[in-house]
Amino acid sequence: MEDIILLKQGEIVLKGLNRRIFEDKLVSNLRRRLTPFGKFKIYAVQSTVYVEPLDPGCDMDGAFEAAKTVFGAVSVSRTAACAKNPDAIFDTAKEYLSDEFKKARSFKVETKRSDKSFPMTSIQLSQYVGGLLADTYPQVAVDVHSPDLTVHLEVRDYAAYVHSVPSEGAGGMPVGSNGSAVSMLSGGIDSPVSTWMMAKRGIHIIPVHFFSFPYTSELAKEKVISLAKLLSPWCGRMQLEIVPFTHIQEEIRDKCPEEYFTIIMRRFMTRISEKIALANGCGAIVTGESLGQVASQTMEAMAVTQECVSLPVLRPLVCMDKSEIVEKARKIGTFDTSVLPYEDCCTVFTPRHPRTKPKLADVQKAEAPLDVSSLVDEALGGIERVIISK
Ligand code: ATP
Ligand code: MG
Repeated sequence: MEDIILLKQGEIVLKGLNRRIFEDKLVSNLRRRLTPFGKFKIYAVQSTVYVEPLDPGCDMDGAFEAAKTVFGAVSVSRTAACAKNPDAIFDTAKEYLSDEFKKARSFKVETKRSDKSFPMTSIQLSQYVGGLLADTYPQVAVDVHSPDLTVHLEVRDYAAYVHSVPSEGAGGMPVGSNGSAVSMLSGGIDSPVSTWMMAKRGIHIIPVHFFSFPYTSELAKEKVISLAKLLSPWCGRMQLEIVPFTHIQEEIRDKCPEEYFTIIMRRFMTRISEKIALANGCGAIVTGESLGQVASQTMEAMAVTQECVSLPVLRPLVCMDKSEIVEKARKIGTFDTSVLPYEDCCTVFTPRHPRTKPKLADVQKAEAPLDVSSLVDEALGGIERVIISK
């Protein structure tokens, strides 16, 4: 009996002629993500991806956990492969699912058969194996309507497969299949979630962090690096761009009216993000803004913030409540790190009375004393790049 992992493709199967491109991306992402767990043969057939160990030392538990974080698959199951004959299939099901049978009160067998030359129909094989399993586990009743345990059998070209209960896959689309975007990653709760959500839609992410040393400490930088590492099982390898932001903030503090500090700062972040995006072939800028959450996240403020760039600004959290964002952050494992108490550059020069409905002309007037393009170039020239690999 050989233990393998099967992933069911999600939305990819709805793709027409492009489907191969998405499928290839899923397979290559899996190859990269599973490398630490041993050597595997990974291939896609009929909306399923097969992960077969190539040597006995493969860490199947580690590979299984990692496979659940790869976007593009809706379910992931451990599966036993066996010879294509009814008795071998029964023996495998009996042994492989013995723990599940101990817990269940009822079961049924469901068969899929893509090898039409197999001597039994799907129904016949389900009945045959189901009958033998019912004899083997008499305390577990057959229930074809709502059983505790469904035994899935598949007869394919080269082997038959017995699945254990599938786990939920990461869903979404394979990272890289929908292009790249820069994601503005602070140390807060929101932006790791927005980054994750865009990666889920198949976007390769370049995280960008604005760092205001010494107003924000080395620990704040370490926190963002930790957050990026926590995201990498989903997002894959990323280049985190850490942009020095101190001079820009000091210039704003010294030369602009206080009520516009935040909005002008956010315009700088957006401009710099766009430059990084364009230099790296990205098609959008992602932020963790949510409508109405703070003064700089009103519709008027968002309009003024994005006015200085032409790439689309994507805000996947725009309509989420804070409690929903927190729930997601807990689920993806970033929450505990996000709430560590290190300051963010936004909080360093927070105006006492920020404008909630800024007018573009007023903001442009407020930032007129600044030499925008040289400040932007200076920041770009000082970028520190940290490679986050997975
Ligand atoms: P978060 O929890 O993501 O920090 P927030 O609710 O604190 O968000 P803001 O501080 O207004 O909101 O920031 C809005 C968005 O701007 C963030 O979600 C993030 O995308 C971006 N941002 C803010 N500060 C930084 C930073 N220092 N570096 C990179 N991006 C930032
Ligand atoms: Mg913040």
